[in-house]
Amino acid sequence: MAEMPLTIALSKGRIYKDTLPLLAHAGIEPVDDPVASRKLILDTNHAHIKLVVIRATDVPTYVQWGAADVGVAGKDVLMEHGSEGLYEPLDLKIARCRMMVAGKPDASYDGDNVRIASKYVHTTERFFAQRGQQVEIIKLYGAMELAPLAGLADVIVDLVESGNTLKANGLEPLEHIADISSRLIVNKASWKMKHASINSLLQQLEQAVRESDG
Ligand code: ATP
Ligand code: MG
Repeated sequence: MAEMPLTIALSKGRIYKDTLPLLAHAGIEPVDDPVASRKLILDTNHAHIKLVVIRATDVPTYVQWGAADVGVAGKDVLMEHGSEGLYEPLDLKIARCRMMVAGKPDASYDGDNVRIASKYVHTTERFFAQRGQQVEIIKLYGAMELAPLAGLADVIVDLVESGNTLKANGLEPLEHIADISSRLIVNKASWKMKHASINSLLQQLEQAVRESDG
């Protein structure tokens, strides 16, 4: 019996690099290199399994609409996107960092009329609303650290790994919002229709995570 086709969505960069060994453990290896080949759809050593390599923030969208059956996305991206149409069955424990409020060491951001720059506008809004603070959020797409220095915002909400980028710009982490790692996500309809193959992939990835997290 021919196996049902399975499409896995990944993003370029650290998630692609860190997911490859986990997929290899599940016996799945890409045939092409996405950088060298410039292909967006990569064949694997299994005729029925393909990888699509897209922007990190697009991964939940592809999986939600079933254009990919499964995907790997950062918790930051999932919190911002919402989980409609998606299952999130496994923490892959890769691309780990923290989502933090950061700013100048003496930054004050209590009360209303505080301006916060972030690419995570919904997550930021929810975090401050939960403690009864109505803040003004300024959406940025990169170089968040510049915003407090240029007087655009009082503080930023961003991902912090070592804290070196903050430090190099005279900023520091001020408050923890969430621990971040990448998650396996599955389209809800695919989970039913392709249960056997997705479940077997899930089991193998689970084992790979256990072994590499040791
Ligand atoms: P680009 O950098 O190409 O604009 P991006 O920021 O969306 O796109 P990455 O930087 O590869 O893509 O980040 C992808 C995911 O990796 C993020 O959603 C987050 O979960 C995680 N991540 C981002 N920055 C870090 C970091 N400094 N350390 C660990 N994990 C990170
Ligand atoms: Mg980035």
